[in-house]
Amino acid sequence: MTDMFDIFIIGGGINGAGIARDASGRGLRVYLAEKGQVGSATSSWSSKLIHGGLRYLENYEFKLVAESLREREVIIKIAPTITKPLPFVIPHSKKLRSKILIRLGLFLYDNLGGKTKIPKSSKINFKINYTDILQKKFSEGFQYYDVQVDDKKLVEMNIDDAIKMGATIVENRKVINAKRVNHHWEITLDNNQKVNSKALINAAGPWINEIINNVLKVNAKKSIRLVRGSHIITKKLYDEEIAFTLQNDDDRIVFVIPYKDEFSLIGTTEVDVKSPDNPSISDDEKIYLINTINNHFIKQISQEDILDTFSGIRPLIEDFKDASKVTRDYIFDLNLENKNSPLLNIYGGKLTTYRKLSEKVMEELTPYLPNTKTKNWTASKKL
Ligand SMILES: Cc1cc2nc3c(=O)[nH]c(=O)nc-3n(C[C@H](O)[C@H](O)[C@H](O)COP(=O)(O)OP(=O)(O)OC[C@H]3O[C@@H](n4cnc5c(N)ncnc54)[C@H](O)[C@@H]3O)c2cc1C
Repeated sequence: MTDMFDIFIIGGGINGAGIARDASGRGLRVYLAEKGQVGSATSSWSSKLIHGGLRYLENYEFKLVAESLREREVIIKIAPTITKPLPFVIPHSKKLRSKILIRLGLFLYDNLGGKTKIPKSSKINFKINYTDILQKKFSEGFQYYDVQVDDKKLVEMNIDDAIKMGATIVENRKVINAKRVNHHWEITLDNNQKVNSKALINAAGPWINEIINNVLKVNAKKSIRLVRGSHIITKKLYDEEIAFTLQNDDDRIVFVIPYKDEFSLIGTTEVDVKSPDNPSISDDEKIYLINTINNHFIKQISQEDILDTFSGIRPLIEDFKDASKVTRDYIFDLNLENKNSPLLNIYGGKLTTYRKLSEKVMEELTPYLPNTKTKNWTASKKL
């Protein structure tokens, strides 16, 4: 019989990379195929934050926020060279959220994640702070902390570790077919190479249903909603090492984040799209982001100030709400048509929760892969 892997992973984004690292460290034989380069899709088009998601508290997503805040703590510890805590300033606007609501949200944000070295939130007076950045109509606001990350590096570091522990990672190889043969999976790559594996994981991010429909040819259990988020990059709009969380009239928020020393990263938007391929920003999105800046900052910008843009597709679990209210949590769909050859489809997720997600994937699959070392290890071992 030809080589048999324990786990085959479709997709080398943060989720696939995290699972490859975790599984290899448990002594499993792992094969990961990525159709482009690892970390080159959604996982490098994010806002580059390891964050609890302050805004999700409005949607009562306490469990997700608590898990994300705990993970924030873990990721700073295991990836200190590519993460950095950053203060986020929220200008208060009477028309939008009340002060009480924001203070309650920040209290929860300070405490839901348990013990932390990250500073707590505070009130801030704009009559003496940031007077040269914010317009005079903002007299007070709040400050809290989140963590900035190099998202692509985070993927690459997980992949490097997986390789060191024996995983096979192939790039520029698309999975074109996967079927159960006897008691295992036979996966076909676009060079017609065939790979055998006991378990199969679909970690294709926004391409998840494309894999389910065209590669696995089974019925999708969940429907997903593809929502584009775009960022613009300008020369830095101010010198301070702080980010802003700007509230818009439509209830959405936009971040302004210091980026690579010289730039400001401004995003994001939410636009429903049909295809996960080749996302790019529309003029309307550019105008929306420019207007957000111009409604808050003294410095006014126009399309000419945009140096670069990038867009990514959020694969959200469809629950027929406004895009900003749809959960950012992940769910698994475990297919056990044959218990010897489990299939796990991963829906949704965030950069922030990839490590915990990977751990839960292993818990889910361990009963079907009896050689798996069960001890969780990724929270304490530096990348
Ligand atoms: C605009 C935006 C901002 C965001 N900001 C944040 C943030 O600040 N913090 C945060 O925590 N989260 C954020 N997120 C969410 C986060 O980026 C995603 O949840 C995460 O990157 C998804 O990772 P993934 O591995 O599931 O998908 P991806 O990174 O898309 O990886 C899936 C991979 O599968 C590959 N693939 C697809 N089909 C095949 C095939 N047939 N064969 C082989 N490979 C295949 C693709 O090429 C791709 O590389 C943001 C998302 C967006 C869109």
